[in-house]
Amino acid sequence: MDFEFSKHQKMIQKEVRHFAQEELAPRYQQWDREKRYPRELVKKMGDLGFIGVSVSQENGGLGESFVTEGIVCEEISRGDCSISMSTNVANHLCGGLLEQGHKEAKDTFLKPFLAGEKIPAFCLTEPGCGTDAAALQTRAEKKGAAYVLNGEKSGITAIMDADFALVFAKTDPDAGAQGVSCFVIPMDLPGVSTQSYEDLGCNAVVRGSLFLQDVEIPQTYLIGQEGKGFRLAMQGFDQSRILLCLEALAPAFVSLEETMDYVKQRQAFGRPLATFEGVSFPIIEHVSLLEAVRLLCYKALWLRDQGRSSSKEAGMVKWMAPRFSTNAIRDCIVLHGHYGYTKDYPLEQRLRDVLAIEIADGTSQVSKLVVHREMMGKKFLPYNYRYYR
Ligand SMILES: Cc1cc2nc3c(=O)[nH]c(=O)nc-3n(C[C@H](O)[C@H](O)[C@H](O)COP(=O)(O)OP(=O)(O)OC[C@H]3O[C@@H](n4cnc5c(N)ncnc54)[C@H](O)[C@@H]3O)c2cc1C
Repeated sequence: MDFEFSKHQKMIQKEVRHFAQEELAPRYQQWDREKRYPRELVKKMGDLGFIGVSVSQENGGLGESFVTEGIVCEEISRGDCSISMSTNVANHLCGGLLEQGHKEAKDTFLKPFLAGEKIPAFCLTEPGCGTDAAALQTRAEKKGAAYVLNGEKSGITAIMDADFALVFAKTDPDAGAQGVSCFVIPMDLPGVSTQSYEDLGCNAVVRGSLFLQDVEIPQTYLIGQEGKGFRLAMQGFDQSRILLCLEALAPAFVSLEETMDYVKQRQAFGRPLATFEGVSFPIIEHVSLLEAVRLLCYKALWLRDQGRSSSKEAGMVKWMAPRFSTNAIRDCIVLHGHYGYTKDYPLEQRLRDVLAIEIADGTSQVSKLVVHREMMGKKFLPYNYRYYR
């Protein structure tokens, strides 16, 4: 057993941490206020190789391990966890899907995506279904050498800034999850439109709805095989959920580090706050819980690197990481007194941002259902598993 990152990984960690500290953290609050996705930074991240880290070299990526991808995600998120939701998590899902695409789709979308020149959006959720994703209603009908898509997607990260969308649609509406296929759709096609949302947090990367009205695409824009789209999405979630959890933990660790500095210098009753156990114990409890979950995240990524399943571990961290991180940041606000409650400090923003991770990529409840399935067996699930296979 070895808990050390390799020399190569430590070098990447240092490089990404420097980038996040210099380029992201100083503008974290500004981008939230302006609701602006810093495209120029995404290009820079592409140039530095921080996008699609685990995409194979054969497909133009770096072919790094999932553990290394986790390191990049965690470090970016120390600077800006809102940007990371797109550049690391949604991008991981989209990069993995594009790798399954036809050569034409790879040439058109994967290369500029890796270079940070084109922004993708992952479109599974619909107004009528999120957790029960296989119930989606968007239709894709084959017409000669083309597919025609109609439907609506909701809650989509970066949809307002996206250049193309990976869209899940039913090619066989009577086949449940096995009737779902995945397509890549350029955002500038006729019949494609969007609508943005006013959300509580993660405002640098705005979410919104995608509307598809008789959108025609060539059959080479089908990703993988017809009817295999749902499986591809679920396989992607097994990894993206772990990245999302590292994304949640990073701002909590930063907040606790800042809080430790603060309570060491802030005085009350003639002593530093840090000398009161009522102040230090909550910090210690949060750090202990977060450190344990962080290790489980890296174990889960390591399992993926070994070609082994990490569904159980991904489900475990997905309910714990955002919940424990939210609790930690909340206490950091309180331990800063009124200063912590102001918008001068980034703590309130981190709380808003991390709360989103309890919902995105599957809620805490559905994550527990995944663990339930892995530990107690499919027979004891509250829904018909065969429908979803
Ligand atoms: C910040 C953010 C980013 C997102 N980005 C994307 C994106 O890029 N692409 C995309 O496709 N979607 C995205 N989503 C949507 C997200 O995946 C869904 O919101 C999520 O899956 C929940 O679906 P829902 O909102 O329809 O809630 P519902 O499925 O309606 O669930 C409502 C509540 O009921 C609970 N519930 C449902 N079923 C069960 C059950 N069987 N047992 C116990 N509890 C249950 C849920 O846990 C939840 O608390 C994003 C959401 C957020 C908040």
